[in-house]
Amino acid sequence: MNNAIYNFALPQNEPVLEYKSNSNERKLLEIELQRQLNNPIEIPLIIGGKEIRTGQTGQVSLPSKHAHILATYHKASEKEVHMAIDAALQAHHIWADLSWTVRAAILLKAAELISGKYRALMNASTMLGQSKNIFQAEIDAVCETVDFLKFNAYFASKVYQMQPSSAFNQLNKMEFRPLEGFVFTVSPFNFTSIASNLNMAPVMMGNTTVWKPATTSLLSNYYLMKIFQEAGLPDGVVNFVPGSGALIGKTALASPDLAGIHFTGSNNTFNYLWKEVSTKITDYKSYPRLIGETGGKNFILAHPSAQAKKVAVNAYRGAFEYQGQKCSAASRMYIPVSIWPEVKEELLKISTSARMGDVTDPMNFVNAVIDEASFDNCMNYIKYAKESAEAEIIAGGNGDKSIGYFVEPTVIVTTNPKFKTMEEEIFGPILTVFVYEDSQLEETIELCNTTSPYGLTGAVFARDRVAASKICDQLIYAAGNFYINDKPTGAIVGLQPFGGSRASGTNDKAGGEFNLIRWITPRTIKETFQPATEYRYGYMME
Ligand code: NAD
Repeated sequence: MNNAIYNFALPQNEPVLEYKSNSNERKLLEIELQRQLNNPIEIPLIIGGKEIRTGQTGQVSLPSKHAHILATYHKASEKEVHMAIDAALQAHHIWADLSWTVRAAILLKAAELISGKYRALMNASTMLGQSKNIFQAEIDAVCETVDFLKFNAYFASKVYQMQPSSAFNQLNKMEFRPLEGFVFTVSPFNFTSIASNLNMAPVMMGNTTVWKPATTSLLSNYYLMKIFQEAGLPDGVVNFVPGSGALIGKTALASPDLAGIHFTGSNNTFNYLWKEVSTKITDYKSYPRLIGETGGKNFILAHPSAQAKKVAVNAYRGAFEYQGQKCSAASRMYIPVSIWPEVKEELLKISTSARMGDVTDPMNFVNAVIDEASFDNCMNYIKYAKESAEAEIIAGGNGDKSIGYFVEPTVIVTTNPKFKTMEEEIFGPILTVFVYEDSQLEETIELCNTTSPYGLTGAVFARDRVAASKICDQLIYAAGNFYINDKPTGAIVGLQPFGGSRASGTNDKAGGEFNLIRWITPRTIKETFQPATEYRYGYMME
C-alpha cells in the first residue's frame, strides 16, 4: 500500500548517436548486423507468454537481397487468434488492477533496455528487415521507441491527475478505467517505434492487446516483444500474432469483447476495419474505439521569397529518406518559376551524388524499398509518367528488382497540377513537382489545399515571414503537422505531436495525452455526505 501521488518528470528525448567509424556504437552495430545476417531465426507466436509454433510458416527476407532469408515465422490460424483474445481478457484483470506506476515502471524498463543493452539488436533488425540505413534505424527503432515509452509514462501521470471539483456536501472523483475488453493493435511495416507504441500506449493505461504485426517488419517486432517480456510485462498483456491480416482481422473483429482498434497503415485496411466494425456494431459489448493513422500526400510549397538551395535539400531529404516510405514523406511540390532553375539544378546535383544500395554500407543514402509489391507499384507510377505528355522525369526513373528491390529516387515535373502522381499516395521514392507562375500564388495555395484527400504533413518555405504565416492559415486543414522552413518529416515525440486529419486518420497524436485518453473510459463517483431525508423540495412545503 502506498498513498503517495506520483508525478513523473518531463523526460529528455533519447539522444541520436552518430555511428562514426571506430565509434563504440558503430562496432557493436556491425557485429550485430553480421550476427543477424548469418543466423536466420525462427519466429513463433507469443500468446499468454508462451511461444506457439503452428507449422504454417512464411519467410522474412532482406529487401536489398531478396534471396537472403532472415527469419522463418509461424502464422496464426483462427484458433490462435481466439487463444490470443482469451489470454488478453484473462490478463486484463491483473493488469488493470496493478498500480499504474508499476505499469509505467515496466515501460520505462523496456525503454532502458532498448536504449542500452539492445540498442544494436533493435537497430540491426530494423535495418535488415525493414531496409533502413543506420540513421533511419537509430531515429526510429531506438530513439522514437524509447521516447514513446518514456513520454507515455509521463503523460499518463498528467492524465491521471485530472479530477472534477467537489461542491458542498459531496466528494467527486474520477477513476480512469481501461477499456472493457481487448484492444486489437495492427501495425505497419515502416516504423518499429509505431509497432511498439500501438501496443504500449493502451497498455500504459491498463489495457491488454492482441497484436497483428506487419509481416515485413517481423524481425524487429519479434525482438520488441521479447524485450517487453524481459522488462517484466506479465503474460497475456500483449499477444504477438503474426499471419494473414485478413484472417486475423476478421477473427478479432468478430469478438464481442473488441474494445478498440489501434491502427497505423493504409486507408484501405483502416476503411475495411471501420466498415467491418460498423456492420457488427450491435454485437459488441461496448462501442469500440477506432484510432487509426493512415496515408498522406504531403506537400512542400515554396513562396517566391524562398531560398532555392534550402528548398532543394529539404525536399530531397523529405522525399527520399527511407525511400519515401514515411507516412510524412514529401511527394508533391509547388515551386515558383522564378526560383525553379536554381531548385532544379540543386536537386540534380544531389541526385548525382546520393548513393543507393545495401543498408550495411553506411555511405548509401537510399536503400531498397520494402518488397516486390512496393517495387512494382513504384515502377507502374514511373511508367505512367514516362508515357504521359504532361510529365517529364528529370532525375531517376529506373528500377531493378533482380537482386533487391531498388527504385531510383525519381523527380517528375508535371504541367498538370492534378496529375495522378500529385494526387495519389505512392509510398515510394517519387516526388512530383508543379512549377507555378509567381503571380499565381493564391491559386496555387488553393490547388495545394484541394488536390489530395489527405491532410497529414506539409511545409512552406519562405523568407517572407508574413507570407509564411498567411499560407499557414490558408492551409489550416491541409496538414495535421505543418512546417515552416523545414522538411515535412522527422516529427519528434513530445516536440511535434504527430497525426493528420481528413483521409489521414483520426489524428489522436501518438505519444501524448490526446492518444492516451482514448484508451480509458472514466468512471465518475459522487459521494454525498448527508443524503436527502425528504422527498419534497422546499417550495412544496410552504
Ligand atoms: P497496410 O495497411 O498494408 O498494413 C498495415 C497492417 O495492416 C499490416 O500489419 C497488415 O498485415 C495489416 N492488415 C492488412 N489487411 C488487414 C485486414 N483485413 N485486417 C487486419 N489487418 C490487416 O499498410 P503498410 O503498407 O504496412 O503501411 C504503409 C501505410 O501506412 C501507408 O499508407 C502510410 O501512409 C501509412 N502510415 C501512416 C502513418 C501515420 O501516422 N499516419 C504512419 C506510418 C504509416
